[in-house]
Amino acid sequence: MSLERQIERLNPPQREAVTAPGQTALVLAGAGSGKTRVLTHRIAWLIEVERAAPLEILAVTFTNKAAAEMRERIGQLVPLPPRGMWVGTFHGIAHRLLRAHWRDAGLSETFQILDSDDQQRLIKRLLKELGDETLKPAQVAAFINARKDEGQRARHVDTQGFADRAVLAELYRRYEAACERGGMVDFGELLLRSNELWVQQPVLRDHYRRRFRHILVDEFQDTNALQYAWLRNLAGPDTSLFAVGDDDQAIYGWRGAKVENMREFERQFPNVKVVRLEQNYRSTGTILAAANALIAHNRERLGKNLWSDAGSGEPIRLYAAYNEQDEARFVVEQIEAWTAAGNPRSEAAILYRSNAQSRAFEEALMVRRIKYRVYGGQRFFDRAEIRDALAYLRLIANPADDTAFERVINQPPRGIGDKTLDTLRGEARASGLPMWEVLTRLLQGGGLTGRTAAALGGFAQLIQSLRAACQGQPLMDQALMAIRDSGLKEHHAKDVDGRGEGRVENLDELVNAASLFVNEEEDLDELTAFLSHAALEAGDAQGEAGADCVQLMTLHSAKGLEFRQVFLVGVEEGLFPSQRSIDDPARLEEERRLCYVGLTRARERLCVSYAESRRIHGETRPAMASRFIEEIPAEHLTEVRLRGTVDRPMSTRPSGGFERGSYGHGGSRSDWSPGRRDGGRADLQPPPRRVSAWNDPPKAPDSDSGLWVGQRVRHGKFGEGVITDLEGQGPRTRVQVKFAGAGSKWLMLDMAGLTPA
Ligand code: ATP
Ligand code: MG
Repeated sequence: MSLERQIERLNPPQREAVTAPGQTALVLAGAGSGKTRVLTHRIAWLIEVERAAPLEILAVTFTNKAAAEMRERIGQLVPLPPRGMWVGTFHGIAHRLLRAHWRDAGLSETFQILDSDDQQRLIKRLLKELGDETLKPAQVAAFINARKDEGQRARHVDTQGFADRAVLAELYRRYEAACERGGMVDFGELLLRSNELWVQQPVLRDHYRRRFRHILVDEFQDTNALQYAWLRNLAGPDTSLFAVGDDDQAIYGWRGAKVENMREFERQFPNVKVVRLEQNYRSTGTILAAANALIAHNRERLGKNLWSDAGSGEPIRLYAAYNEQDEARFVVEQIEAWTAAGNPRSEAAILYRSNAQSRAFEEALMVRRIKYRVYGGQRFFDRAEIRDALAYLRLIANPADDTAFERVINQPPRGIGDKTLDTLRGEARASGLPMWEVLTRLLQGGGLTGRTAAALGGFAQLIQSLRAACQGQPLMDQALMAIRDSGLKEHHAKDVDGRGEGRVENLDELVNAASLFVNEEEDLDELTAFLSHAALEAGDAQGEAGADCVQLMTLHSAKGLEFRQVFLVGVEEGLFPSQRSIDDPARLEEERRLCYVGLTRARERLCVSYAESRRIHGETRPAMASRFIEEIPAEHLTEVRLRGTVDRPMSTRPSGGFERGSYGHGGSRSDWSPGRRDGGRADLQPPPRRVSAWNDPPKAPDSDSGLWVGQRVRHGKFGEGVITDLEGQGPRTRVQVKFAGAGSKWLMLDMAGLTPA
């Protein structure tokens, strides 16, 4: 369909926003009113009608997934795929700028990105150095990140009158110095530094001001002070700035986002055109009425109406579960019935307040062999063995990377102890040199003797020869060499803790990932681009064609998305709203907005549930329905009661009517990173042999092992669990067991000594 026709199909205020000629516009509208749609149409309109060059367009969204979707949607609207347009997250765009202008930004060309895990390791080291035993690394990281989000450097921190603030400021100072020395940049720094670039290098800033004539921002309500400043600096007198947002969906206040930016926007930019959209196209009338009634309990609102002509649809189902397992079982049965009726699994989403809640649902889905995907869980690139391998690659790319250096100097173990490491650290601090430099000097100076000297010499030799060997080689070969020559693979192959095999497979998978990696950054060498990708991008929920999986994610990551059927689970006082927000009116309102986000993700069907008792931190506690449920008018809710649901345990319920095959993961590359939380195998393996006749009878044993998927078993060390997968033949048979306490594990059947539970 032509763009003209597409634009005709918009409603009048949407069309007005898309074609607004003025310089700045703010679309302020509720959930599902077409804000994102307006934004993509405007980009297409700018290119097609206004003849803007794609190069002149910069679009900022909140997640990589949203950015990818945006690119795709624009691609559908314009005949040629627009090249040169910048579409990304604030972090992604800032990273790109710093890579292009590293010298102006005062960085080394090979600077590496420090993710939150690296960040905490570094802080832990600094705390030790300072002899502080009271502060926790996470606390210090939160302090530093919050300062950066406010645009403050260590020297800006006001310590007057606060004793612990002085310590925190000192830590921040040391942290800055360590990052500087090691050529490392954390997430907050990406933005802070590129903002400083605008301020300190007006020539450069003006260049980009001239270039990006059109800046478009989605989810504007969640920009923090630094992001807002960054935007304001980049937007010159001739820039047209187009922002869309919904104050009722501001859910990042805890990370410094400021809804006031929306009001500021109107004040700070002259002649802002404000467009309000009031028709919701996403949800049924009932769902919308419930969401509207809920959010009406908030006081801090800009206020707006939202209506729908979609018809009222079915009532919202409310399920009071006996406990969290019963809740999971209920939800999974509903999904089963729904998919049995021909609906795609991927249109069903389970949304929860915090990541830990996914476990009960994962288990229930696994037992019933329903494919699912968890977004935002442990990422592939976060696994210890993968981090080790990446650290070798980082050290190859940038010898000054102290975090990487510390990570691998004794991994695999080569007899380099804490004392030696302390000496190196001390020297590095005193001299202001990277640890690698200190090490090579020490070795050259001949001041080292004995076993430690040999071990250190061996390590230095290893890195040097790796660096030489990797020069100019394809990325895949570099990964292969790093994993092999470092001894990492051999180390895990020895299988010291029973998890070696999975780790070796993950390392192989890293090589696969490297071989498939496409470097889209023209100015960046392949290795640096790959390392940045691992740190920055691979963590987000990634859409994937092909695999039809039930979607599991937190409410925060569901922002902007929509599903035909939504299960909003764990809606209990103390959990949602969270305990910590209950006594703080501002935080309570933020929780309510989060609930509003959850309700408005649903297009056709919505089910809200809570458990009457829940196990938290190993303790079973009574729970009660959240106030948010009370705030939804009763006329929109139907309580679901199922006979015999409570006392029928999950594992003995008959199963059937589901598709055979793998679950929780598909087969493509984008799949493993966000979706696999189980430390399991790599995905690009040949598909494992599946147990036959799983459906009929429900518990048909596997022909040669006598075990079957879904069976409860006991392991000497890991306790009780459920078999979730079987593969291989005879003595090579391997089983995957999801243990209640120890998580998911692949075991060699012959050696595992499993007994039926
Ligand atoms: P959120 O606040 O959740 O981000 P949004 O305001 O960005 O929502 P969109 O995601 O753009 O809303 O649109 C919601 C749904 O309504 C989408 O499926 C979109 O295609 C549809 N939609 C929007 N406008 C129209 C329209 N004029 N005609 C038909 N469908 C529309
Ligand atoms: Mg949107």
